[in-house]
Amino acid sequence: MVFSSLKKTLLGAALSNFGDSFERFQHYQKVFSSLKEKLLGLWINSFLGHQVIHILKNFSSSVSHKIIKKKKNVTIALDLDETLVHSSPFPRDSDFSFTMISDGESRTVYVRKRPFLEEFLEKVSEMFEVVIFTASTSSYSAKLLDVLDPHKKLFARRFYRDSCKWEDGHCLKDLTVLGIDMAKVFIIDNSPEVFRLHVNNGIPIKTWHWDHTDHALIDLLQFLEKLGDVDDVRPIIAAEFGVGARINYAHSSSPIQIRRNRSF
Ligand SMILES: [Mg+2]
Repeated sequence: MVFSSLKKTLLGAALSNFGDSFERFQHYQKVFSSLKEKLLGLWINSFLGHQVIHILKNFSSSVSHKIIKKKKNVTIALDLDETLVHSSPFPRDSDFSFTMISDGESRTVYVRKRPFLEEFLEKVSEMFEVVIFTASTSSYSAKLLDVLDPHKKLFARRFYRDSCKWEDGHCLKDLTVLGIDMAKVFIIDNSPEVFRLHVNNGIPIKTWHWDHTDHALIDLLQFLEKLGDVDDVRPIIAAEFGVGARINYAHSSSPIQIRRNRSF
C-alpha cells in the first residue's frame, strides 16, 4: 500500500513537471525502483535489527542472571525449628498446616512462622547461597520447606537429620558435610551446642515459639550484610559474638538440646 501510493505520487509529479516524454517516464521509474529497494532494505534491516537486539537482550539477561547467581560468595545454613518456625500438633495461632506420616500414622502439623520470616529469607537469598540444615526428619522438614519455598527458589540445598552427627543422643551439625570452604559458610541456630565443632562459624539466635513481638531475624540482617563478600566469615563472627563466651555457651547444659528421639 505504501509503495503503491508513493509510486503514484512520484509518477504524477514526474508527468506534471516534465510532460509525458517516454525517456523521463523511464528515468523516474528507475528512480522509484531504486528508492523502493532502499526503503525495503531499511525496513528489513530495522526488522532484523529489532529481532537481533531482542535476542541479545534475552541472552544478556540470562547470562547476567547466572553470573549473579554464581557470584554468591558465602553460604548461610539455617536451622529450621525454633529458628525460623515453630511446629505443633495444635492449631492455635498457626500460619499453615500439612499432614505427614509419622510412626505409621497420618498426623497434622500446625506451623507458626517467626515474625519477619519472609523478609528475612528474601534478603538473605539475595546475599548468600541459602541452605537448610535441620536435625528434624526429612519426611517432616521437606513438606514444611515445600510450603515456605514452593518454587524452590530460596533454598539451594536441604540437609536433614541424617546429615547430623549424634553424641550421647544430642545433635552436632558438622558443616563440612556441605562440602564448602569453611571460610565461606556459617550457620544460624537456636541451639548453639550444634555448632560446637565450628564455633567461629555459628551465630546463635534466641529460641522462638510464639512471641509476636519478636524481631530477632530482622535484627540480624544488619550484621549479616557484613558477611556477604568477605574472604573469611570466621573472624567477623568471632569479633561480633565473642568466641570464648560462645564456646562456654555451646558446652553448657542448654535446655534446648535436640533429642534424636523426638517425633519430627
Ligand atoms: Mg532449632
